[in-house]
Amino acid sequence: SSVRLISSFKAEELQVRLTSTPAAKPDNDKLTFGHHFTDHMLEIDWSEKHGWAPPVIKPVTTLNLHPAAKVFHYACELFEGMKAYRCVDGKIRLFRPMENMSRMAVTGARTSLPSFDTAELLKCLKKLVSVDQEWVPYSEKCSLYIRPTFIGIEPTLGITYPNEAKIFIILGPVGPYFPTGMKPISLLADPQYVRAWPGGCGNFKMGSNYAPTVSIQAAAAKLGCQQVLWLYGDDHEMTEVGTMNLFVYWINEQGEEELITPPLESGLILPGITRKSLLELAREWSEFKVTEQKLTMSRFVKAIREGRVKEVFGAGTACIVCPVDKILYQGEELVISTMNDPEHLTQRFYKEINDIHYYRKAHPWMETI
Ligand code: PMP
Repeated sequence: SSVRLISSFKAEELQVRLTSTPAAKPDNDKLTFGHHFTDHMLEIDWSEKHGWAPPVIKPVTTLNLHPAAKVFHYACELFEGMKAYRCVDGKIRLFRPMENMSRMAVTGARTSLPSFDTAELLKCLKKLVSVDQEWVPYSEKCSLYIRPTFIGIEPTLGITYPNEAKIFIILGPVGPYFPTGMKPISLLADPQYVRAWPGGCGNFKMGSNYAPTVSIQAAAAKLGCQQVLWLYGDDHEMTEVGTMNLFVYWINEQGEEELITPPLESGLILPGITRKSLLELAREWSEFKVTEQKLTMSRFVKAIREGRVKEVFGAGTACIVCPVDKILYQGEELVISTMNDPEHLTQRFYKEINDIHYYRKAHPWMETI
C-alpha cells in the first residue's frame, strides 16, 4: 500500500496575533443568526508557487482581494456550517467535526480548490475556538456557530484552476432556533423550481447552490409557506427542505412503520451530518424500519390520503430537526399531523441530539476543543 502525501499547512506552525480591542459580547437573548462575530479569525493562504503558508489566527478584518479574483466571477467558493457547545461539565465541544472537515475537502476538489490535511485544519479550528472561548455562550440553548470558508483568489479572469486560494474561518454566537418551543413549518412544493440535478453539484456545499434559492424562498413566502420543498424530475421526487435534509416517518405501502429519507447516490442531496446522525441513532434504536430511498410526491400524496403519514421533518445543523405540518402542492394543502403525538419522533430526535450536544448524555460524537 502506498502512502499518499498531501501537501498541507501544519497546525504546529500556527501563528496567533491577538486583538488589543476585544468587542463586547452580545446578550444571549438578543442573538440574531449570522449577525455577531467573535474577535478572531483563522486565515490560511495557498499558492501554486509556494504551497500552503503557515495558518494565522488574527483579529477579524476585511479581506483585501483583487476585483478579478476568481471567487467573484466564477463562484469558486465553498463553506461549512458547524457548532461548538458549552457542555454541562464546563468543557467546550464540537459535534462530529471531522465530518465537516471531510465534506469540505470533498467539496474543495469539486470546486477546483487545492487539497489540504483535514486533521490539521481541525487542529487550527480548535485553537481558534479556544482563543475565542469566552464567546461560546454560557447557555444550554445557545452555541457558537463556525463558518469555515474556502475561496479561489487568483486575480485573473478565465475559468481555470485558481493558482491562489484562501481558507478562512469566522465564528459567531447564535441563539436557539426555536426560542419559544418547536414550531412546525409549511412548505411550497412546486416542480418548476429545481435546486439540484443528477451530475450537478447539489451534493456539495458550495456557495453557488445557495444564492439562487433566495428568490424561490421569497416566492414560497408570498404563498404563505415558510420553506421550499425541493422537487426533482417528472415524477416530482422529494429531495430537500430549504437547507435541510428531508425525513418522512410513515406506514409504508407494505404496512411497515418506516423512517425514510432520500438517498445520497442520486447526487441531489447534501450529505448532512445531522441526517447521518439521525439515521445512525434510529438504526441503533432498531424500533422501526430505516430506509434511504427515493420518495415521490405521488407515493407521498397517496400515503396522506390513506392516513399513513405520521411525521415530516427537516434536519440540519441550524435546527437539528424542524417539523413540517403543511405542504402546498398543485394548489392543494396537504396536512401532516407531525405535532399531534406529544412523544413524536421529531421531538425525540431533538431531545436526543440536544442532550448529546450539551453532554447531558456523554457521546463519542462530541470532541473537546
Ligand atoms: N441540505 C442543505 C442544502 C444544506 O445546506 C444543509 C446545511 N449544511 C443540510 C442539508 C444539512 O446539513 P447538516 O446536517 O450537515 O447541517
